[in-house]
Amino acid sequence: MKIHQKITILLFLLSLLSSSTTSFPNFFPNVSSIPPSFLPNTTAGAWDSFNKLSGCRPGQQVTGISKLKNYFHYFGYLGNNTSNFTDDFDDALESAVKNYQRNFNLNATGELDEPTVKQISKPRCGVADIVNGTSTMNSGRSESMIGHSVAHYTFFPGTPRWPSQRRDLTYAFNPGNQLSDEVKRVFANAFSRWSEWTPLTFTETSSYTSADLKIGFYAGDHGDGESFDGVLGTLAHAFAPPAGLLHLDSDETWIINDVLASGSPTAMDLESVAVHEIGHLLGLGHSSVEDAIMFPTISSGVRKVELARDDVEGIQVLYGTNPDNNGTTGPTIGQREVNGATRGVLGLGQVILFVIGLTMFVL
Ligand SMILES: [Zn+2]
Ligand SMILES: [Zn+2]
Repeated sequence: MKIHQKITILLFLLSLLSSSTTSFPNFFPNVSSIPPSFLPNTTAGAWDSFNKLSGCRPGQQVTGISKLKNYFHYFGYLGNNTSNFTDDFDDALESAVKNYQRNFNLNATGELDEPTVKQISKPRCGVADIVNGTSTMNSGRSESMIGHSVAHYTFFPGTPRWPSQRRDLTYAFNPGNQLSDEVKRVFANAFSRWSEWTPLTFTETSSYTSADLKIGFYAGDHGDGESFDGVLGTLAHAFAPPAGLLHLDSDETWIINDVLASGSPTAMDLESVAVHEIGHLLGLGHSSVEDAIMFPTISSGVRKVELARDDVEGIQVLYGTNPDNNGTTGPTIGQREVNGATRGVLGLGQVILFVIGLTMFVL
């Protein structure tokens, strides 16, 4: 049998496997050992083109600046005057870049230096950093307030939160997504990160319409004015209380356990993103603390699911402490783990490798 026939049969077997374990959206329970050429979505991310702007400075006119202005407008750094969204690096953009740099702990040069462009290109939450023109991230603080001893957690304007008689919240999944129990368990774990430190409890209900918190995967324009943008770029967004809507971009490749997607440069850890978005559902805005769950960006392959002290302090301002948790002061440091070793569970990757091996043997 010729090699291309072998590959055809192999791809057919792989498609059978994947269709039986994944449906809309894309989930990878374990992709660590799948050959990269078999992985989807290895194309460029939504914001890779920003890398070409590295080195741009005020006064220049460069193709692509216009797209960057739309980016800064989307995340609250540029006002509504979209008619000025030309390729000119004007004063408004310089000011936006400086505020962005302050929020992300970069030198406020106002230029698109390499660290800034690198940060801008990272996948991130779709919720704006500056809401209604006001920011309580670093750019909204005086220089003297920016330091390790000052809290960085933020709230939405007006500090919306779930009222005191609503401590036991229900959540449900968009029935159209037909999520597996394994995916639902990821969200249950994500909710427990917040209930651990607060009096809040979260219970899944099958009634999507009556649930307090509604979770769904959507692609592109999905009717709330906040379109998703395909691979990477914005990953998810959620709305402040009492809206209770948590949306995730179904065009992403989502990892649903803690195994490194070494072959896919674009796979994102679902629980990490879910923990962040639940923070918004409860009333937290973005934080300038890089280790905090509420920091706006996360890189592919990174798993970050433990609340940092900044997150705990913020959520406890809104809801108080968990009466059942003695350690009410919160964690001392933020924790970040990069996905690493495979745990001892036979995942999709191993199954596929097994099939590849078996196929080669049979052929
Ligand atoms: Zn966010
Ligand atoms: Zn949405």
